[in-house]
Amino acid sequence: MIRCPRCNSRHIYPVAGGYAGWTYRCKDCGYAGPLVIEFDSEHPQENEPLQRKYRNEVNEMRRRRRPYLWVALLIVAFLLALIFFML
Ligand SMILES: [Zn+2]
Repeated sequence: MIRCPRCNSRHIYPVAGGYAGWTYRCKDCGYAGPLVIEFDSEHPQENEPLQRKYRNEVNEMRRRRRPYLWVALLIVAFLLALIFFML
């Protein structure tokens, strides 16, 4: 049995992923990726670390995206200073 790593839904199915091998797609939340929670019904809690790993990866991606916001703010501040000195 497989489950979605994002929303824990069972409505996840494999799709042919070409060069990357198998990828999975979730009907409930739209997740698409190679990571999936696989378990036999006897030990469902064993895959908890996998789910945590996925969440950490998502958080890491969000953290990496943040510096661009600061660069954008710096550019805006620079342009405002430029306009101020021109007047
Ligand atoms: Zn899902």
